[in-house]
Amino acid sequence: MKETRSLEETFDLGGVSKRLAECLSAVMIIVDLNKHVHVFNAAAERLTKCPSVDAVGRRITKVHPIFEILDEQNLLDRTFQLGVPSELKDVRIPSPTGEGHLYFSFIVDPLLDGTGQIAGASIMAFDQTELMRLRGTLARQNEDLVILHEVSNVLRSTMDVDKSLFIICTALTSVGTHRNDHAMVFLADKERKVLRGVMAAGRYGDREIWKVWHDLLDPNRSLNGMLDANYPRIYKRTARLTRHVGKIEVPLDDPHWLLSAVARRKSVITSDDLRRDSSIEVHPELKRRFRMTSFAALPMMVEGEAIGIFIANASRNPRTFEGQSIKVLEMFADQAALAINNGLLFKRVAERAERDSLTGLYNHGHFQSRLAAEIDRARRYNDHVSLLLFDIDFFKHFNDTYGHQTGDQVLIGIGALLQKTVRLTDIAARYGGEEFVVVLPHTNSADASALAERLRQLIATTPLAKDAEGKDLQVTVSIGVASYPEHADGAEALIAASDAAMYTAKRTGRNRVVSAAVVAQNNQ
Ligand code: GH3
Ligand code: MG
Ligand code: MG
Repeated sequence: MKETRSLEETFDLGGVSKRLAECLSAVMIIVDLNKHVHVFNAAAERLTKCPSVDAVGRRITKVHPIFEILDEQNLLDRTFQLGVPSELKDVRIPSPTGEGHLYFSFIVDPLLDGTGQIAGASIMAFDQTELMRLRGTLARQNEDLVILHEVSNVLRSTMDVDKSLFIICTALTSVGTHRNDHAMVFLADKERKVLRGVMAAGRYGDREIWKVWHDLLDPNRSLNGMLDANYPRIYKRTARLTRHVGKIEVPLDDPHWLLSAVARRKSVITSDDLRRDSSIEVHPELKRRFRMTSFAALPMMVEGEAIGIFIANASRNPRTFEGQSIKVLEMFADQAALAINNGLLFKRVAERAERDSLTGLYNHGHFQSRLAAEIDRARRYNDHVSLLLFDIDFFKHFNDTYGHQTGDQVLIGIGALLQKTVRLTDIAARYGGEEFVVVLPHTNSADASALAERLRQLIATTPLAKDAEGKDLQVTVSIGVASYPEHADGAEALIAASDAAMYTAKRTGRNRVVSAAVVAQNNQ
C-alpha cells in the first residue's frame, strides 16, 4: 500500500486527475515498474468485469488475459527500457464474454517521477471493434459497387437477351462479396398474364465467369453455342438448372405465390419475410429443386411495371438478406431490368424487320438469306434442301368478285395454315403478292413433293374467308417443288427451278403440284 501511495503522490493522481481518469471512456491503467496495477479506471472495470479494488496491487497480466498482449509484444518492457511511448494498433483479442473477437489499440506512455526517472507507465486501451466492423463493411460495400459497375458494363455490351440473362444469373452466384448458390430469372409474358422461368445458374469460379463474359462479347456467337464449345461443364449445369425453372409458370394475378407476389408488390421479398407472412408460398417445384430456405426475390422494374423477377438463393450457405446487401441487389435489379428490356425491344424490332406485316410469315428478304444459309449448310454436310413455291389460282378474279379485303383474308388464312403445318425448322415466307415459299431443310425431292401435295389439299379444303352472305370461300394453289442438289446447285437456281415447276402446274390445269424433276424430263 505504501508503494501505491507513493506512486499516486508522484504522479499526483488524487483529486482532479483521478476523476478525469474515471470519466474517460477509454481504458486507463497505471502500472509500476513491476507491472503492478496502481490505477484502474471505470472503463477498465467495465471491460474486464474486475473491480478496481481487486485489480490494484496485482500484476496487470494476471488481472485479465486481454492484457497478456502487453507482455507478448513487449510493450511495457520497451517503454521502461527506452523511455518512449509504445503503440499497438488494432490487435485482435478474444472477447471477454467468450463470443467473437474484440479489436483494441494500446498506447503505453512512460511515467517519470520527480527526479526524472521512469517509475511506471500509463496504459490506454481503445476499443476499436466497432470501427473495424465499419471499415470491413465499407470495404465490402466498395467492392460491391465496383463489381456492380463492372457487371453493368458487361450487360450494356450486349443486346442478346439470353446473354444478358446468363450474365445476370452468374453475377449473382459467381462474382463479388455475396455469392449465392443459385440465381434464377422469371419473365412476364407479352400479355403480362404469367411469369415463366427463363434461366437459372449455379455457382461457378469467378475467374472462369469473367472469361465467359468476355467471350460473350462476340456478337457472332450465341450463348449456347459458345458455352457448349468452350465451357461444357458450365453449359451442362446451366442447361439442367434452366430446365428446372423452365417448368415453372405462375399466373401474375395470383398473389399467393412468391413469384407473383414480388411482381405485384413491386418490392423485395426474402425468406425471412416469408416466415412472418404465411399468406405467400414458394412454388412447390421451386422448393423441390432449390430448397429455398434463404433467399431474396426482387422485381425488375421498367416504367413502373415488373417485367420479371430474379431470385438470389443462398439456401446451401445461408446468409441474411437485409440492409446493405438488399440495397446492392436492388441496384443490380435496375441494371438487369434495363438490359433485359433493351434486349427484348431489340429482338422485337429485329423480328418485325424480317416478317411480312399482313400474314406474319417471314418476308422476302429473310427468305432469301435463310435459303442461302440452308444451301450453304447442305453443301457442307452433303444434305438436301427443298423449296416449295406456290401461287393462288385465279386470284385476280377472286379479288374482282369478292373485293380486295376478302382477298387479304385469304392471304392471312394461308399464312396461318402454313404456320400450323410446317415444322419449326421449316421456313415459310410470303414471296410477294399472292405467292408463297417454304424452305424445307434436310428434305429430299420426294418428301418435299409429298408435303406439297398435303399442303395443296389442305388449302383447297379449308375455308379461308366468307363472302358478303357469309358463305365459306376457298381457293386453290399451284405448287412448284425443286430440290438442292437434285435440281439446282445454288439458291438462285433453286428458286428458278421451283418457279418453272409452278408455271408448269399453272399451264397444265392449276390446283396441282409439279416437281422440277418432271419439268426437266419434259424438257429433254
Ligand atoms: P393465276 O395465278 O392462276 O395465273 O391467276 P391470277 O389471277 O392469280 O394471276 P396472277 O398471279 O398474275 O395475279 C395476281 C393477283 O393477286 C393480282 C392481285 O390482285 C392479287 N394480289 C397480289 N397481292 C395481293 C394482296 O396483297 N392482296 C390481295 N387481296 N390481292 C393481291
Ligand atoms: Mg401471281
Ligand atoms: Mg395467281
